[in-house]
Order: sequence, then C-alpha cells, then structure tokens
Amino acid sequence: MDGFGRIIRNLRVSITDRCNFRCTYCMPAEGLDWLPKTQILTYEEIQRLVQLFVRLGIEEIRLTGGEPTVRKDLPSLIRLLAPLQSEGMKSLSITTNGILLDKLAGPLAEAGLTRINVSLDTLDPDKFHQITRRRALDQVMSGLEALERYPSIRPIKVNVVAIRGFTTETDVLALAELARRKPYSVRFIEYMPLDADGNWQSDLVMSGEELRQIIDRKWPLDRVAGIDPSSTSVVYRFADGRGEMGFINPVTEPFCATCDRIRLTADGQLRTCLFSIDETDLKTPLREGASDAEMESIVRAAVWLKEKKHKINEGDAFQRASRSMSQIGG
Ligand code: SAM
Ligand code: SF4
Repeated sequence: MDGFGRIIRNLRVSITDRCNFRCTYCMPAEGLDWLPKTQILTYEEIQRLVQLFVRLGIEEIRLTGGEPTVRKDLPSLIRLLAPLQSEGMKSLSITTNGILLDKLAGPLAEAGLTRINVSLDTLDPDKFHQITRRRALDQVMSGLEALERYPSIRPIKVNVVAIRGFTTETDVLALAELARRKPYSVRFIEYMPLDADGNWQSDLVMSGEELRQIIDRKWPLDRVAGIDPSSTSVVYRFADGRGEMGFINPVTEPFCATCDRIRLTADGQLRTCLFSIDETDLKTPLREGASDAEMESIVRAAVWLKEKKHKINEGDAFQRASRSMSQIGG
C-alpha cells in the first residue's frame, strides 16, 4: 500500500531497453545509447525480484521494454515466472510490437504466458513503415493470427497510439473494424509526453473522446459498466454486439487517483510513477546480497512514497518522463 492508501497490484518490468523497431514517438532512427549488458538484470535476478513483489501482494506482472521479444529466449523467463501463480500472481503478460510472434506465440503459450498486448498504430502498410521505420505490418498481422491458435493467452489486446496529423479517420475506423472482425480488444492510448520524443505537443494528442466519437458515428458504441476502478481503460461494446473497444486517456483524464502500478526498469530501478524523476535502486542491494527482508523494506519504503499527481502545478503543461519509455517499461 502507498501513502495515499492505494493498493499496488500491478508491476511492469522492462526486460530490455533495446528494440527492433524505431517508432518515431519512442526512439530516434539510430536508436538510443543502450544500457551495457552488465547493467541489465539477468533472468534469475528478475525472477527473484518478481517473486518478492508477488509475495508483497502484486498480482499482475507485465513484461515490456524496449521490445521484450528481442531478449534471448524469452520463453525461459516466462517459465521461471509462471509458477508464481501458486503464490498469488493472477496474470503474466507481455507488451510487444508483435513482429516475432509468428514464431514465439506457441513457445510463449507453452511456457505459461496468460495475456498479451500487441502495439499496432495503423493497418496501412506505408503508414506502418512511416511510424515504426520498419516494413513489417504483414509479420505483425501473422503474429496476431498465430496468437488466435493459443486460447491460453487471452484476451488479445491491440494497443493503438493515435497522433494528430498522422492518424486519420480512415486509420481509426480500420482499427475499429479489426475489433469487429477479429477476437481482439482494440484500445486507443493517448499520446503522452516522454523524454526520448522531442516532438510531443498537446495539440498532437487525439483524445479518447474524439476517437470514440469518430467510431460511434459509424458503429454506435455502448459503455460497458462495472469495470475494475483501477483499470485504466474505459471499455465500450459495439451496439450490434460485434467486438469491443477501449480508450485509455492518461492525458485528458489522468487516472493517478486510482493508479495501482509500479515499474521496474531494465537496469533494476524501481519507479513508482511513469512521470517520476525519482527511482529506487534495487539492483545494487540485490547484487550485494541483500536478504529478502532487506529488499522488502526498501520496496515498501519506496512504494509508500508513490506519487499522486503527474501534472506540474503551473499551467496545464505535462511533466515529461525523465527517461525513455523503453527503459522505464511502457
Ligand atoms: N516494444 C513494445 C511495444 O511497442 O509494444 C513494448 C514497449 S513500448 C514502449 C510500450 C507501449 O508504449 C507501446 O504500445 C507504445 O505504443 C507505447 N508508447 C510509446 N511511447 C508512447 C507515448 N509517447 N505515448 C503513449 N504511448 C506510448
Ligand atoms: Fe520499440 Fe515499442 Fe518503442 Fe516502438 S514503441 S520503438 S516497438 S519499444
């Protein structure tokens, strides 16, 4: 529990800062200054920390990055973490750009992955190239189809970042149509100000409400009630019953008051808010042989101080995250 009484149940673990895409809003074309390999937590270190977090009450574990599938033998990490279900872990998921799922869906399912988020901003091959700087839309679509063969990984969520000037009504409707045609839950996430992206301006944000209206005009949407209050997404069903859509609105409707999320960076720093400038070093004590009890008190003290407001006070400007999304664990 943090100092505001929020129960923290959700841990995102960035397992690498590297990526095989170069999404324009996330990384420059030449990549970032990658963390040296010795600074990155090993799978055994990740397992020890995740186990500690689960014993402290964390229920949802999401592996992210960077691109988690570029880390060598990801299924072996999933295999190390899956047994934590017997200690209270309720879901073990990854967020991925999807390019390697064609090959990895089976091994990940077999290893014990239970949920997945695939990021996909457009269904237009040229625009996909423009935003990711890779010609890989077909591979991502095959990856999504591969997931359909493994019912133990559900739901299949597709995350979309919409950016004004790039995302058109045609893109939005094509993605909504994907949610109607396929067993995927498509969710739009508002474009957030992050460190590696010098292009962010508030007028580039397409609000969830604006996106919802575009879709609702073509296919009426009904709000789904009774979603968990700590859930970040507002969920709608198509009135004709074919599929559902979600909207995650961190910019226009910040959900700090109910945030139940903390993050572990690829180099073993605990971050209690995406927009925080503070981190708590877990790697050093871990590598210096701290006991579980010592690690637990470091974690409890850091979580107690979890932030509640990510807007800076003057004006309406957003505070930028102080590291790139790929190191923090988007
Ligand atoms: N490489 C994986 C992927 O793309 O799914 C995992 C890491 S990526 C940083 C996680 C998510 O963060 C992706 O869905 C990506 O679109 C999203 N993201 C990155 N920069 C963002 C930004 N400025 N605003 C909103 N979402 C962002
Ligand atoms: Fe890579 Fe994901 Fe960032 Fe795109 S959003 S560059 S896929 S880490």
